[in-house]
Amino acid sequence: MDIAKRIETLRALLNQYNHEYYVLNQSTVDDATYDQLMNELIELEKNHPQYFSPYSPSQRVGGAVQSSFKKIKHTRMMLSLANAYSQADVQAFDQRIQDLLSIHQPMAYVCELKIDGLAISIEYRNGVMVYAATRGDGEIGEDVTANIKTIKSIPLTIPDQRTIEVRGEVYMTRKVFQSLNAQRIANGEPLLANPRNAAAGSIRQLDSTITANRQLDAFLYYVVNADELGIKSHQEALGFLKILGFKINPETKTVQGIDRVWAFIQTFESKRASLDYDTDGIVIKVNALSDHPRLGYTAKTPRWAIAYKYPPELVETTLENVIFTVGRTGKITPNAVLKPVRVSGSMIARATLHNEDFMLLKNLYLGDQVLIRKAGEVIPEVVQVVSHKRLANAIKVTMIQECPACHQPLIKIEAMHYCQNPSCPARHVESVIHFASKIAMDMKGLGDKIIQDLFELGFIQSSADLYALKDKREALLQIDGYSDKSVDLILDAIEKSKQRSLEKLIVGLGIKEIGEKTAKQLAKRFLNLQALSQATYQDLMALEDTGPVVAQAILDYFQQPIHQTLIDRLIAFGVNTRYLGPVASQTSFFSGKTIVITGSFANYARESLTEILENLGAKVTGSVSKNTHFLVYGTDAGSKLVKAQTLGVSLIDESRLLAILASEKV
Ligand code: NAD
Repeated sequence: MDIAKRIETLRALLNQYNHEYYVLNQSTVDDATYDQLMNELIELEKNHPQYFSPYSPSQRVGGAVQSSFKKIKHTRMMLSLANAYSQADVQAFDQRIQDLLSIHQPMAYVCELKIDGLAISIEYRNGVMVYAATRGDGEIGEDVTANIKTIKSIPLTIPDQRTIEVRGEVYMTRKVFQSLNAQRIANGEPLLANPRNAAAGSIRQLDSTITANRQLDAFLYYVVNADELGIKSHQEALGFLKILGFKINPETKTVQGIDRVWAFIQTFESKRASLDYDTDGIVIKVNALSDHPRLGYTAKTPRWAIAYKYPPELVETTLENVIFTVGRTGKITPNAVLKPVRVSGSMIARATLHNEDFMLLKNLYLGDQVLIRKAGEVIPEVVQVVSHKRLANAIKVTMIQECPACHQPLIKIEAMHYCQNPSCPARHVESVIHFASKIAMDMKGLGDKIIQDLFELGFIQSSADLYALKDKREALLQIDGYSDKSVDLILDAIEKSKQRSLEKLIVGLGIKEIGEKTAKQLAKRFLNLQALSQATYQDLMALEDTGPVVAQAILDYFQQPIHQTLIDRLIAFGVNTRYLGPVASQTSFFSGKTIVITGSFANYARESLTEILENLGAKVTGSVSKNTHFLVYGTDAGSKLVKAQTLGVSLIDESRLLAILASEKV
């Protein structure tokens, strides 16, 4: 092997992955692959010191600092952690510590879960938060104070007047992550790969209202200037953080001796799957703070701590088949059908293969043994084929050229294949599932399986047919497993859905590119479905947030006769087509005004305030400019208030706001 060349290749690859991970929050390789390449580079550099470079990614902490944020220089370096992958590595860490300290007896260590999120440093002075910064390159981070202030578990004030700097991890729970992705599916937006990327992306938003909607949380695990505060041990520091009002991870434990550390690591290997947040290892820290300066730091990591990383759980199983599913927009997705196996706590029988390129990259043959794992601990993924176990004469998996449901030829747009037949039955099943879903007509109890049954048994062919089911009650009762009670519940939910407001119906129609937010805007602007169906390209383009793609998608939808027939039938069944929500006032103090909201309010959550002002006819935007009419500000207003003052924008504080709203009878 040409060593110099390999080192160069590894450095280039790792630089690219760092940029994707830290700057774009969009990894293209998994962490285990990244760690493997990094370890190979470290090993090569160690064995061939003539190639040492201070610019190598092995010498750097984290990523770059984005220019769009103000920069903050950390008072003390914000480092990474050295990694351990085995019991031997953990024991070697303990040995090194004992040797360096010349202590040959069991050491006290604090074991903490390694939360898979984004590191943050927050400084408080005189009892109030003064700034919060990301790690950045370890020396200089990004000022994300406004965004950190949206995290409810991080106190804005603390009961201690001294200068105190604390560090911890901002994360997104699995539950919030899943609902965020469900929302993104509904809005036709690309999915976020895992909760870590989602948390990092949410913190590094220029508009804090977006961060506020992401329901982030944080565990604090470090007091930077503990020495100045007279704190003696790491355990004491965690207790101090708790007293100050921070959230500390409850699973933290102080133990004596490395064997107990290993027992802790083993306990959490299975337990961590049941937590509501992702963890990728255990951080082990020397408890006595007086030992920390004695142990010191490398360029990248402290010597008094190490992160044990759990191996990604890879499980081997058989690829029994590849089936192609058709989404409601006609998008074709290849899915691996697997012999069911348990991975990271749940049974896996299917894994997405995303698209043709991904499938070909994996080079799959039917009957192959494949290694699978839950990507980001959540989505099942085929990692690789165990190629030496391939059966003779196995058949290679290739992309289909025809729709599996209607046999029309597929067309390829960028990486994806689509069935463009508007009468494709598979698209219809998905459309009805979407129509009945919570974000659309919200027919409680009418799940995917029931809709599939109703299709297969010939009860329905489109969403409108759901409303004819009430006349088929007796026939429905003949279906295996359907009781009087369950049929009545379904029919009742369908009947109730007739009264939904227009925005729910717009979402339910499944117009390409239209998610909940745009649907609401359309409903408020056009007030009834007929007006929307007759809107011109110019009418649609005049809406805020509506670009040419959305405008064209709406026009295309209403031009198709099959859609017009569907709408006519829905109307004939008595489905409401009018907007039933509050209508934006044309005459209020705020109508037609562009408003920015910043800070926290005693009487309103930010989201509800936005809604109130929009209903009064205001346009609420995220950033202050010379076109802003008013800045409505609460406590802890930061840079937006300063900018508004500089630009001479009119200011409204909470008491004035209350007075105006009272005069508007809100
Ligand atoms: P790291 O994630 O291995 O460990 C350090 C970090 O752990 C700290 O900065 C902190 O944010 C976090 N942490 C969580 N809980 C903690 C606790 N209780 N105490 C202290 N720290 C805690 O190191 P890193 O430098 O943040 O990131 C490097 C890792 O990121 C790599 O090993 C790799 O797994 C991943 N990575 C992946 C890609 C990719 O493309 N997939 C690219 C770059 C980095």
